[in-house]
Amino acid sequence: MLQQVNGHSSGSDAQGRESLREDLQEFLGGEVPLHQLDDLTKVNPVTLETESAKGTSASVLRCLQARYTADTFYTNAGCTLVALNPFKPVPQLYSPELMREYHAAPQPQKLKPHIFTVGEQTYRNVRSLIEPVNQSIVVSGESGAGKTWTSRCLMKFYAVVAASPTSWESHKIAERIEQRILNSNPVMEAFGNACTLRNNNSSRFGKFIQLQLNRDHQMTGAAIQTYLLEKTRVACQDSTERNFHIFYQVCTRRGLQLPRCRAEMEAPTHPTKACLSHPSLPPLTLVLTLGCDLDSFSEDCFEVTREAMLHLGIDAPTQNNIFQALAGLLHLGNIRFADSGDEAQPCRPMDDGAVRTSALLLRLPEDPLLETLRIRTIRAGRQQQVFRKPCSQAECDTRRDCLAKLVYARLFDWLVSVINSSVCADPASWTTFIGSRGSLSRSPPSEKGQEGPGRRGSTLGLLRADPFSSLHPSPHPPRLLPALAPQVLPFLAGLLDVYGFESFPHNSLEQLCINYANEKLQQHFVAHYLRAQQEEYAVEGLEWSFVNYQDNQTCLDLIEGSPISICSLINEECRLNRPSSAAQLQTRIESALAGSPCLGHNKLSPEPSFIVLHYAGSVRYHTAGLVEKNKDPIPPELTRLLQQSQDPLLKVLFPADPEEKSQEEPSGQSRAPVLTVVSKFKVGLVVLRRHAQFTHPSPVLTEHPRDCLCLLQASLEQLLQVLQATTPHYIRCIKPNSQGRAQALHREEVTRWARAASGGPSQPRPRRGAQPVSPPLQVLNQLEACGLVETIHISAAGFPIRVSHRTFVERYASLRRLHPQGSPHAEQATLRALLQDILHTLPALEAATPAAPAGATPAPVHCGRTKV
Ligand code: ATP
Ligand code: MG
Repeated sequence: MLQQVNGHSSGSDAQGRESLREDLQEFLGGEVPLHQLDDLTKVNPVTLETESAKGTSASVLRCLQARYTADTFYTNAGCTLVALNPFKPVPQLYSPELMREYHAAPQPQKLKPHIFTVGEQTYRNVRSLIEPVNQSIVVSGESGAGKTWTSRCLMKFYAVVAASPTSWESHKIAERIEQRILNSNPVMEAFGNACTLRNNNSSRFGKFIQLQLNRDHQMTGAAIQTYLLEKTRVACQDSTERNFHIFYQVCTRRGLQLPRCRAEMEAPTHPTKACLSHPSLPPLTLVLTLGCDLDSFSEDCFEVTREAMLHLGIDAPTQNNIFQALAGLLHLGNIRFADSGDEAQPCRPMDDGAVRTSALLLRLPEDPLLETLRIRTIRAGRQQQVFRKPCSQAECDTRRDCLAKLVYARLFDWLVSVINSSVCADPASWTTFIGSRGSLSRSPPSEKGQEGPGRRGSTLGLLRADPFSSLHPSPHPPRLLPALAPQVLPFLAGLLDVYGFESFPHNSLEQLCINYANEKLQQHFVAHYLRAQQEEYAVEGLEWSFVNYQDNQTCLDLIEGSPISICSLINEECRLNRPSSAAQLQTRIESALAGSPCLGHNKLSPEPSFIVLHYAGSVRYHTAGLVEKNKDPIPPELTRLLQQSQDPLLKVLFPADPEEKSQEEPSGQSRAPVLTVVSKFKVGLVVLRRHAQFTHPSPVLTEHPRDCLCLLQASLEQLLQVLQATTPHYIRCIKPNSQGRAQALHREEVTRWARAASGGPSQPRPRRGAQPVSPPLQVLNQLEACGLVETIHISAAGFPIRVSHRTFVERYASLRRLHPQGSPHAEQATLRALLQDILHTLPALEAATPAAPAGATPAPVHCGRTKV
């Protein structure tokens, strides 16, 4: 019983000590002195706190390094699991047999630490008969640390252990739902991942996948929420980065007038794809310099993507439409304009071929395409006369890029809605979810020039049940099995994989949003674990000496706080729509937020920028283009142009809106409040909460705030709420080195800091934020940033299992043949008797339990005011 109560897996008996000693030898990679064993018989064997209960970051690091060298990549650290990226295939670590072993184990926490332990624990909690609550697994870590990999493995784990016995039939393919859910990964990664400086397969969108179970706790479906796709990447990437994978995959396909091999790419006469490289570089240089083996690698990946799409119900003709549209975007990116030299005359396209081919592939009329890219319509005067103004060369480029981003972003959203329709077992939640986030099968935005979730809300319920309906009518559209729907329980597991913390030489709005999301997740951890747990001990009246931790609330205040923050200042610039230089924005931010300790000093940069001291490191954000990016204006002419397309896919993505035709509005002069990227991103978080179907619905979510500030306020709590309403499980992915090398855990850093910790000669440790811009995150930095040592201290000294008096009595009274029913007084008497029993009959464990830090009497069980 006690093992259940306090989570101990090892007593102080000789046998237990011996097995623990063996565990530890493996764990530490060497002999464990016996005298350490007393300290080591703490909560959970084979965990970091065993070695580091009194330790420092350096000892944690040393411990992780020992394990890493021994090919042990997972380590328990209090309530979190530390996952070191092996950067090499370790197939035996993810085999179905191992999955089943963890699933079948009476106490999976007794097995070696693994993501399957977390997966299994989550699954068991969902099935718990006593207090089943929604579960979430939050996978965090910097870019390239292994979050997406981990999420994928967990999905595979659930596909094995919670496999549904029935098959679904669609498109004449009978298959299991879990296989279909897994098929969503290659598709979403092809369209939403890209090679960056930090990670060859970097997620450029956030993902929350909700696994749905039936009464027998079998997986019956999933619902996927994505947010903030980095769509700017479609048009432009940093010189050392790449576009979304799918573009390179599509290049391997014939018939799209794209180069299919390097030789073709290098041919100067071939129509090239500026979209695939930085505009300032010769087209396609990037692909070649990065050594992209277009001929084989992308081709193989393309096959995988197509196969997965097929299984998700996207048939070959629809796929052709998609690839054709993507090729159209690539050719669109090749359209270059030359100034006409006369303000009254529109710019000239430098290559008619690019216009023709992109028009052909996107099935748009050629002349209107060219006109829309070159000429702006403005409505002015009392009569609202329409004026046509030729755009400058730069404006033409912006409109071209905007068109590409618009199409790609809607295509991505549509794909997600298709995937959801294919895998979701609960149509009701799916409709709400997708409808609220604005799938492509909704009606177009009702307000001009803007896309925004605020407007999307009104389209709730307009969702077409079948996103394919307008495309290629299939005799076997992927339908949900109606019988499954009523069985779906509200107890679900959510898996959150967002893009990791990023710091590049040049950081802009994309990084600000990504890092902001990571701050939010970190704040949840701080609030939920580091703060709340210690506060609970105090409330329960237990002896406890407070463990200090780094609270990132100050940084969040700087980013999103009220009344003035970085977000509010950027949003204000957007709303005021005034000409404002990058230097002015920098000055405004620096003067308005000068008091924030998280705003770094910005003396050295030649370009206008500001520095934020994030929990994970300092990042310099360049202010040039920040406001424009945040505004994300979509000239209404572009949407109208796309509505003229004869392509069946584009017709679905941009359905004609009869109302809109009659109400032209000048571009960039919408009267509606501007819904900026920052705001939309926050709505993404709002939707996350809505979709999760968790308890305590917030009134904020039932309306759609029209004002950015309102959204800003609402979002402050949304992400935390979604996780707070669940039992969260944390997996901290750590990137052992920045080069992606196997078996290399930044040794230099280890030795340097290990020496510092032991008092030996070493360089002084740089203060956080002292450097203007942080280098790629080092291992120690990652450990410190996520508060791992504090977590370990709290976990080692704390009480992992906390049960209310009533639950405790109800669960264990039968052991003494007592009946818990009765008055509160009787309940307390039973409780006291049970506790006495434990202390009396299992005295050996008393010595082996975690002691409170201030030297409180060690005891296996503590009785607080309301909880045991
Ligand atoms: P981002 O925030 O940029 O999306 P991420 O944290 O999702 O980054 P992943 O894409 O999951 O990072 O991992 C980066 C790479 O590391 C993977 O492509 C894979 O090569 C390798 N990797 C990660 N985890 C593992 C693992 N458990 N075993 C083998 N290789 C791994
Ligand atoms: Mg990822």
